[in-house]
Amino acid sequence: MRALVYEGPYRVKVRDKPAPRIEHGEDVVLRVTRAAICGSDLHLLHGFVPDTRVGSTFGHEFTGVVEETGPAVRTLRRGDRVVVPFNISCGRCFYCARGLYGDCESSNPMSDLASGVYGYSHTTGGYDGGQAEYVRVPFADVGPMKIPDDLEDEDVLLLSDVLPTGYQAAEMGGVREGDVVAVFGCGPVGLVAARSAWLLGARRVIAIDRVPARLRFAERWAGAETLDLEAAGWDPVPVLKEQTGGRGPDVCVDAVGLEASGSPWQTLLGRGLKLQAGSAVALSWAIHAVRKGGTVSIVGVYGPPANLVPIGAAMNKGLTLRTAQANVKRYMPHLLEHVRAGRLDGKGLITHRFPLERAAHAYALFGDRADGCVKCVLVPG
Ligand code: NAD
Ligand code: ZN
Ligand code: ZN
Repeated sequence: MRALVYEGPYRVKVRDKPAPRIEHGEDVVLRVTRAAICGSDLHLLHGFVPDTRVGSTFGHEFTGVVEETGPAVRTLRRGDRVVVPFNISCGRCFYCARGLYGDCESSNPMSDLASGVYGYSHTTGGYDGGQAEYVRVPFADVGPMKIPDDLEDEDVLLLSDVLPTGYQAAEMGGVREGDVVAVFGCGPVGLVAARSAWLLGARRVIAIDRVPARLRFAERWAGAETLDLEAAGWDPVPVLKEQTGGRGPDVCVDAVGLEASGSPWQTLLGRGLKLQAGSAVALSWAIHAVRKGGTVSIVGVYGPPANLVPIGAAMNKGLTLRTAQANVKRYMPHLLEHVRAGRLDGKGLITHRFPLERAAHAYALFGDRADGCVKCVLVPG
């Protein structure tokens, strides 16, 4: 089959590779219909995620049609259309039994840090992902959700990650009626967090980024006020304070995570930005900006190059810090209703579609935030 293959930092290519097969009775093999590229994939591409092996296939946001089922699969049949949560969960371990599907311990024997995740290095189990013609889905009775007949694959594609992650980010912020919520990062996750803050009763939502097209998108799609980092002199903290009576937002969401070396941040660091390269810039800003007693909700992904956090400031200000790998399965049914009602227009986030063969180009475009790209989807076959 054709599949996107990692060849080393900053290098991905579409190549031939053996198609996946049923390995356990509870597996299905899907023919992939849509596979999105995520900000998390950029961390892999940039070589930030430990044990990302050459030859592996990325992609944890996909829909597909069941091609083959293992003998123990009960709920799915050949021909079913499904959307699949990015976390792989067994449905019966200590965590799954408590509904904490994003923490499943049997899907990732390699580490107790995270559940298994499709296409996300051997640190999360070494599973191949869905940026390919076919993908193996383990524990197929647990994760996949059948796509209702009246909905297109793209209507629900982002229920695999971005919609639950952004919504959970707002929910972990404890957003309450009347709150001012600031969201760092206007990528797909930040946009959904901003939109979700309204659904949870926010009075004001301020979205922060440096990419003008994404700021415009945040105004249109999420109905947010925007703060342009360049216009703010790359110091958004005083601006946020000034806009909130000197106190700061009630809730700050970090939807940025690791930033690539070689990104514009390095240039800015040279111009006196008071943070080290590879440090958690957005997270530091969030901690300094939020009001005393406020909450910082962190869904941006971090790892070895950026574990520097101003924990002293967080302690002095009495902050609540919450963070999680999203619990996709738990949110899917509820958010499907928001999708149906048009309150969370996941499909509306998709700005670009490319044939799988052009995946390398799609990564470059998405990574550069070029051509107004917000969410990029690969179409195999
Ligand atoms: P993305 O790369 O499309 O968007 C990130 C945005 O942040 C970009 O628009 C960039 O310009 C902006 N940005 C960079 N530095 C900034 C700063 N200091 N302040 C404000 N904005 C800044 O990514 P995405 O797909 O939206 O994902 C966002 C983050 O969420 C990533 O780290 C991703 O890995 C993570 N994520 C986490 C989960 C989870 O389960 N916790 C799930 C999905 C994605
Ligand atoms: Zn993702
Ligand atoms: Zn489990």
